[in-house]
Amino acid sequence: MTVTSLQSLAIFGGPPAFAEPLHVGRPNLGDRERLMGRIEDILDRLWFTNNGPYVQAFERRVREYCGVRECVATCNGTMALELLMRGVGMQGEVIVPSYTFVATAHALQWQEIRPVFCDVSPETHTLDPSRVRELITPNTTGIVGVHLWGQPCEVDALEAIANEHDLQLIFDASHALGCTHQGRPIGGFGRAEVFSFHATKVLNTFEGGAIVTDDSDLAEKLRLMRNFGFESKDQVVYLGSNGKMSEISAAMGLTGFESIEEFTDRNLVNFEAYREQLESVEGLSLLKTPEGERGNHHYVVVTVDSEEAGLTRDELVHVLEKENVLARRYFHPGVHRMEPYRSDQPMAGLVLPVTDELSRTVMTLPTGQAVDAEAISRIGAIVKTALANPESVRECLAEWEG
Ligand SMILES: *Cc1c(COP(=O)(O)O)cnc(C)c1O
Repeated sequence: MTVTSLQSLAIFGGPPAFAEPLHVGRPNLGDRERLMGRIEDILDRLWFTNNGPYVQAFERRVREYCGVRECVATCNGTMALELLMRGVGMQGEVIVPSYTFVATAHALQWQEIRPVFCDVSPETHTLDPSRVRELITPNTTGIVGVHLWGQPCEVDALEAIANEHDLQLIFDASHALGCTHQGRPIGGFGRAEVFSFHATKVLNTFEGGAIVTDDSDLAEKLRLMRNFGFESKDQVVYLGSNGKMSEISAAMGLTGFESIEEFTDRNLVNFEAYREQLESVEGLSLLKTPEGERGNHHYVVVTVDSEEAGLTRDELVHVLEKENVLARRYFHPGVHRMEPYRSDQPMAGLVLPVTDELSRTVMTLPTGQAVDAEAISRIGAIVKTALANPESVRECLAEWEG
């Protein structure tokens, strides 16, 4: 077992526990040589974009992996959200969580659709269906659920509400590739779902995203929208933008898919190691994949109850940062506290007590290929040492602040 003395903590002037910073969301990299082989092939073919063979193969791979009929790959997840929101006819008001990455709301606002912020459930960190119901007005056209951290939304309840009120229901599944809900892969729920393959996500294409759906008519429309509305050479039949994925991105994605089990297995091992270290620590709790479901464990999410733990989340994050453990305060402070929403909707926070609480108490810890059991045992020792001496730590941090 790794033991750390109080005085050896970096906040007290000791050397940082890690010489190199440990990041949340460090890119996962598959087999480098296979990637290079694919890139050479792309260069030889001189086919770099516009629905090339690698993009088509990547879309096929995503379809198989998620068990869905259609996949429309895009240049990033935000563009996928924007295309989908427009494609299903969202306008007026759309209900979204505030406890998410800002892109979920921006994708609406960018198209002059008003995001109406809804609170989440403290257990799952996803939309609370009973709160959703209260926010529906005659202007509401849809609901965007976010499978935050790969935790599935309460899909059935949201679907019932959407049906009852004739609303479009889509999901931002940016975190949830490889996760299941009721034993079925995320990707097949609602009208359609969106993945992000940004460098920080469990599978990456450098930048990239995709819309997946079983609705072939919708997919056809989205393919037109993705490519300026071109139906064939010189023939524009629809308003479109440029949302295409490049061949080199698709090559990265195909290469990543060959190692995805490796990525998620490593994450699971790391999660279990964190659990061993932190589960019994008073005031800390780890978010767990629901019983019977598969998770990708790409985010290690810890809630800090400062009353019980003795230190606040922010204090603990500072202690870890000094050790080169770059814990993150996702998704602080909540989208409703960011511009333009903060100014446009100053009262939004009144209905978001859980969001505010989570923004204050949640941190995510480094995992992935760069982190192993030994590192996690050191991180555990740092956390436990700091929490065993909250007074001294707080005094020390106050000096840093000063
Ligand atoms: C990453 C992310 C996005 C945006 O995806 P990009 O590919 O970076 O545009 C949207 N929503 C959530 C929840 C995300 O985490």
